Amino acid sequence: MTEQHGREVEPNQELQEAWTEICESLRAEIGEASYQSWIKPMRLIGLDGGAVRTGVPTRFMREWIQAHYQDRLSELLGSRGLKGGIDVVIHQEHGAPARPDIKPAGAGKDAEASSGPVNGNGNGTHYDDIGAPLDARYTFDRFVVGKPNEFAYAAARRVAEADVVPFNPLFLYGGVGLGKTHLMHAIAWHLRKTRPDRSVIYLSAEKFMYRFVRALREHNTVDFKEQFRSVDVLMVDDVQFISGKESTQEEFFHTFNSLVDQGRQIVISADKSPNDLEGMEERLISRLNCGLVADIHATTYELRLGILQAKGEHMGVEVPLKVMEFLAHKITSNVRELEGALNRVVAHHQLVGRDITLETSQDVLHDLLKASERRVTIEEIQKRVSTHFNIRVSDMHSARRARSVARPRQVAMYLSKQLTSRSLPEIGRKFGGRDHTTVMHAVKKVEELREQDSSFNEDVELLRRMLEG
Ligand code: ADP
Ligand code: MG
Repeated sequence: MTEQHGREVEPNQELQEAWTEICESLRAEIGEASYQSWIKPMRLIGLDGGAVRTGVPTRFMREWIQAHYQDRLSELLGSRGLKGGIDVVIHQEHGAPARPDIKPAGAGKDAEASSGPVNGNGNGTHYDDIGAPLDARYTFDRFVVGKPNEFAYAAARRVAEADVVPFNPLFLYGGVGLGKTHLMHAIAWHLRKTRPDRSVIYLSAEKFMYRFVRALREHNTVDFKEQFRSVDVLMVDDVQFISGKESTQEEFFHTFNSLVDQGRQIVISADKSPNDLEGMEERLISRLNCGLVADIHATTYELRLGILQAKGEHMGVEVPLKVMEFLAHKITSNVRELEGALNRVVAHHQLVGRDITLETSQDVLHDLLKASERRVTIEEIQKRVSTHFNIRVSDMHSARRARSVARPRQVAMYLSKQLTSRSLPEIGRKFGGRDHTTVMHAVKKVEELREQDSSFNEDVELLRRMLEG
């Protein structure tokens, strides 16, 4: 796996010193744990052309470093006059690597490289081996807290800072793009920094399943169990993925129990509450319900504005308040899309060099806005909901209070609140001149029912999708 390369110049003392300095400044930036894992094992080989060549023992490490540290390393080298960038190669004569325990990630493609001393002893297993990479941007200090997510945030912080497991599991749930993964990574980052002795594994449920299936295939389930059962903190993201996958659930259940019994922390995320996860075994659901269940609600205007401000600051770009207000108002689906919109506006500004204004933003986001422009009207909602529940549209305005018409009416009010920008009094007026408190009550009621009754929840979700699509 050693790569052939041309004119290499042995590192002279000057280069060696520069390299040491750079590593030290990176150490201060990324923290001790990451430094020990990734930077320290890098070996300075020399100069090749203008580039500083370094070696690492495995492909996995090379990829990781390229993804996370290469840009910064190049910058730091550049600031010392070494403008040719950095090369990371896999270096077999790596001596005794600082990380003999690390095994290349990925399945077959790296099999030949795993003949080294991997997983020497059971408890030496390193989390990076089975976990997934963490996104460097997903830290607590870059998570903007507002009403919709303050509970989930507080719970996540608690887990990250606690000495004794405060609740088990922490179950985070909420819709797409609302910050579940961000919070999980933040817990992991925090622990890596403050408790580098603890092994923390973050991975998606999909990856968990993939690992499990592979272990089955390779008759290696003992190792698989060992790996997972010796961690201090296990975080499994998007657990809805294993719905309907019985043997994976079974294995997960046992892993889960064994960790809980040993007092290890578990953090789970999903797109629904435990009770609403379909195709999950009853005993698993009840286990998931045992700890703290924290949901992340849809964003509010204020939170969206806060996130935009924070991101703008981070990008070092002055985005006019008017533009941020506009985005926060228009892009309501989720934070990922909001970020995407801001990125586009900023990228355009940087490429074309035009100031960021309301007009340029509208231009740049033309297609995006058109999609969210297709706003439904209250009349359409009333029509759709009536058809769905098989009642007359006139019953939306009528004074009848029978459950069979009152409930659909409440659903329609709820959807009007969700899908239009009408105020509560405006909505009330469109429903036979009802009071805004009636609308408020309907919204609450439907929210409650959505939590309690999964088939009702599906009905509402279906209606919402039809109306939006
Ligand atoms: P989920 O896992 O719930 O689908 P993510 O955690 O991947 O969502 O979040 C989507 C994007 O939005 C990420 O880039 C994340 O950093 C960002 N994001 C979500 N919530 C917040 C928040 N409260 N503050 C800052 N960024 C956020
Ligand atoms: Mg996610």
